[in-house]
Amino acid sequence: MSTTEEVKVPDIGDFEDVDVIEVLVETGQHVEQEQSLITLESDKATLEVPSPKAGVVQKMHVSVGDKVSEGSLVLTLEVTGSGDERTGDAGGSQGAEQPAAEEEPGGPDATERPAAASGPEEGVPAPADADTDLVVLGSGPGGYTAAFRAADLGLDVTLIERYPDLGGVCLNVGCIPSKALLHAAKVITDAREMADHGVRFSDPTIDTGRLDEWKWSVVKTLTDGLAGLAKRRKVTVIQGTGRFTAPHELEIEDPDGKTRRLSFRQAIVAAGSQPAMLPDLPDDPRIMDSTAALEIDEIPKTLLVVGGGIIGLEMACMYAGLGSRVTIVELTDGLMPGTDPDLVKPLRKRLEKICDGIHTGTAVDQVKANRASLSVTFKGENAPSRARFDCILVSVGRRPNGHRIGADKAGFEVDDKGFIPVNQQMRTSVRHIFAIGDIVGAPLLAHKATHQAKVAAEVAAGERRAYQARVVPAVAYTDPEVAWAGVTEQEAKQQNLNYGKGVFPWAANGRALGMARSEGQTKLLFDRDSGIIIGAGVVGAGAGDLIAELALAIEMGADAEDIALTIHPHPTLSETVGMAAEAYEGTITDLYMPRR
Ligand code: FAD
Repeated sequence: MSTTEEVKVPDIGDFEDVDVIEVLVETGQHVEQEQSLITLESDKATLEVPSPKAGVVQKMHVSVGDKVSEGSLVLTLEVTGSGDERTGDAGGSQGAEQPAAEEEPGGPDATERPAAASGPEEGVPAPADADTDLVVLGSGPGGYTAAFRAADLGLDVTLIERYPDLGGVCLNVGCIPSKALLHAAKVITDAREMADHGVRFSDPTIDTGRLDEWKWSVVKTLTDGLAGLAKRRKVTVIQGTGRFTAPHELEIEDPDGKTRRLSFRQAIVAAGSQPAMLPDLPDDPRIMDSTAALEIDEIPKTLLVVGGGIIGLEMACMYAGLGSRVTIVELTDGLMPGTDPDLVKPLRKRLEKICDGIHTGTAVDQVKANRASLSVTFKGENAPSRARFDCILVSVGRRPNGHRIGADKAGFEVDDKGFIPVNQQMRTSVRHIFAIGDIVGAPLLAHKATHQAKVAAEVAAGERRAYQARVVPAVAYTDPEVAWAGVTEQEAKQQNLNYGKGVFPWAANGRALGMARSEGQTKLLFDRDSGIIIGAGVVGAGAGDLIAELALAIEMGADAEDIALTIHPHPTLSETVGMAAEAYEGTITDLYMPRR
């Protein structure tokens, strides 16, 4: 049975006679509950009017340029059934590609939206006497953020984590320990390279025990901090492995093997991902994944890094800095597949100096574990001949944990690869169960997980929120760093975008020269019609910090003039951002550019 309903502009605060700047739907179109219908813009804010119900648009009553206030008629909607239902895609404008099976953290697909769930269901009503309002499965950056935000919004929250320390991969075996060790490696490299500029240090003595202890102390400071924050917020933390047994129930197995059941009203799945391994490798402790590679017991004399993505190259820089002779093999034709080649070039040049060999288009064929070494054969057009290594780091991507949590018992979808499809509210195909972070797809990055976590927690607490980030910046903390946000130049070409670029080479930046690191460049991409920035890439020392300004510029819809007229402090690397915009505008004086 269907009914007809009038959709009006809801309470929009103090705004009156606000301009309609976009009409997002048309007559005859099916819309979901909460799908944005029109965009309004005042001098203070941009607002979207969502559909209160699902249905079919019968008639539009507004068009672009109209002025509306609270109560103005927007459209007439034919509502089928209760209209209180959602199919997964809440109207994401940027597509909903399925994420890849094995993912690097980050990657140029940072703008991809997570796949849309095919249809959250009302499901079984929550038990009135549920043990907890909200259960969060997994305590990585996604899980702990979701738990803390939900608790701050008044929900009674239970956080389940299989390991004794909170913080997930990021804090314990990912972002944080890797960056601490990369810092140590960089200090050694910088000290060594100062010899060319007249400052000589003697070779370092590395106390691996003390270095490892320091790394752990950094990790512990953060994980203990999280435990304290959970306590202060009265979040109940349970150590154990959780699996769904029903739509509103989990079974938790504690470290001693004892099980208990926990019922909940809503759940947020933040169970993350784990390293992928190559098949057919011998079971040998000298063959490491990224987790084992962060345990610095001994620095191998020779190391083979299998996989030239972000994690592999970070580890290559780390071990080369600490003194290993590193060889890198990568299956595809280039390092950091998908990243603009001009950004990767300075990194590759430097890696060629500090590594024994870099072989792209090459795969590991066989590994034989001998007593003294690991003997490896390779395949591929330019494959090197058999070589021996003390250790091998396999860094070929990560696999989501979606198939390990009993999703079928709760009734929500998990795709073949183990990712959980979600909509923009981070709901899975079962309405009261949300999923966030690595487990929902690319990019596999901590800061994406925390942003999705806040959306999920706020929606669970009854707020109207959606995950609508325009860009998720990605950073490789290699030496030099490589960072990008928004559309890459490769994507701009593939999509036939009408773009122009402004590039500033760091060889003309005083600060970079003073750091003896002039190999970098800052590249900004602009939409030629509007002049608005659509993408940015930086390679060079501290690129990871520079990209934040550019992510903000993209989020705010800045154009080249906005960036060029922003005064950047001198002498800093940040000047390269302003000057890349000036280069695009043709107003730059620090480079000679022929008149346009
Ligand atoms: P995770 O951090 O994976 O957390 C999931 C948690 O769930 C884990 O603690 C796990 O034990 C727990 N869990 C899983 N299943 C269960 C269960 N059934 N019951 C109970 N608990 C469960 N990202 C960046 O943004 N910047 C970086 O510099 C960066 N560097 C990295 C370096 C390395 C070496 C690695 C491996 C990753 C790096 N990443 C980086 C990626 C980043 O760590 C992840 O994107 C991030 O941790 C994902 O957060 P999450 O909350 O989705 O999941």
